[in-house]
Amino acid sequence: MVKAAARSCGLGAPIEGRPAPAGAIDAVDDALTRAPASALLRWDPGLGLHRAASHPTAQIVDHALATLAAGAADLLTGPDAARLTACGSIPCNRYLLRHGRRHWCSVRCGDRARAARACARRNRTGR
Ligand SMILES: [Zn+2]
Repeated sequence: MVKAAARSCGLGAPIEGRPAPAGAIDAVDDALTRAPASALLRWDPGLGLHRAASHPTAQIVDHALATLAAGAADLLTGPDAARLTACGSIPCNRYLLRHGRRHWCSVRCGDRARAARACARRNRTGR
């Protein structure tokens, strides 16, 4: 089950086999193009060829967002994309990379899901 929050951020679309919302793609592309995510090649007579960040410190947030967006884009288009799934613990809206039989993003979510299942079982049997 993919939750409403997952659908609104666009990550739920590929998991469900739906096209990604244009707004989600635009938001990632906007972050990717605001600041370069890697240092650029520069020439200086004293240093010679070297790499340096091209963004001023005033763009540090844009640079951080560009780095996060690059990581998200790599994940969504890379070999691990097929393993991306929504956490199976309600009301969690996080994602995880499926590994074996793992269904939850954290031990806390797993414990909450197991407790809810046990409570439902007790209510069904009346004990
Ligand atoms: Zn979770």
